[in-house]
Amino acid sequence: IIQLNTPLAAFGTYYTTMQINLIDMENMFELFDETPDIYDKNDATQVFIDAGNVEFDNVCFGYSDEKETLKNISFKVGPGETYALVGPSGSGKSTIIRLLFRFYDIQSGSITLDGLNITDMTQECLRRHIGVVPQDTVLFNDNIRNNIRYGRVTATDEEVNEAAESADIHHRILSMPDQYDTHVGERGLKLSGGEKQRVAIARTILKAPNVVLLDEATSALDTNTERNIQASLARVCAGRTSIVVAHRLSTIVSADCILVLKDGEIVERGRHEDLMSEEGVYATMWMDQLQKSPQGGSPEGTSKDI
Ligand code: ADP
Ligand code: MG
Repeated sequence: IIQLNTPLAAFGTYYTTMQINLIDMENMFELFDETPDIYDKNDATQVFIDAGNVEFDNVCFGYSDEKETLKNISFKVGPGETYALVGPSGSGKSTIIRLLFRFYDIQSGSITLDGLNITDMTQECLRRHIGVVPQDTVLFNDNIRNNIRYGRVTATDEEVNEAAESADIHHRILSMPDQYDTHVGERGLKLSGGEKQRVAIARTILKAPNVVLLDEATSALDTNTERNIQASLARVCAGRTSIVVAHRLSTIVSADCILVLKDGEIVERGRHEDLMSEEGVYATMWMDQLQKSPQGGSPEGTSKDI
């Protein structure tokens, strides 16, 4: 019994983690209707990822045979670096994130995590090392404590509180009727878009993955909330390899590298200052955005595509 107990307990944790990731991804990518045909290879391994190098090498991908959605995508994110993906709607930003989470298999090229092809590791292993902060977070019909604990089901109450503090939602929770026992979700207290994103940040802090994928919300947050959430987002990305579908100017300006996508191709890459002086696609996008929001805010619809 003792011999059986450990692997079963471990399986329980993996299974729960997997479910959570699937829920997050379903939510993030609105994939409720899709059934991805992704299988582990017979000899797929459980690996320990410690650095968090992400490399796309000449990746080509299409959702169908007729259309190539991503063409020859190559980039390399080093441990702890932040890469921003920008480009018009439909240019392939979210697809890159989906491929790294292996929601689809690519047609050619390779995607590696610390040098190991992601198709050579189990999906459970891959997804254990990657945390996702989706655009719109699903809350479960449970109390707020357990909603945060979904990031790591074995976390203690104290760890949950610490994560909530880092995500800047601890004080808000203390103001709720039953504090950490307050029921949230469809049948409980409704949280705002910004508060839900903080829950996702707290979950990711608890999960402590090597790689963070972030699909920044645009319209869900008012400008004030947006500014306040920046510090929490910075905290969850700190020291982790991060790939951010970026709308917030602060993320873009401070990114180690910006990849500018257009029709499934990387058309420009570099730091903000470099791209501005190139006076190309990125600089044009930037100027357009400034023109549309002369007050420097980011009203809905204007910041979506940068
Ligand atoms: P972005 O995030 O930059 O707005 P996406 O990566 O979501 O762009 O989409 C890139 C292209 O792939 C678009 O033309 C989009 O219509 C198409 N696409 C996205 N998801 C699917 C899907 N599940 N099936 C078929 N085509 C898709
Ligand atoms: Mg997208």
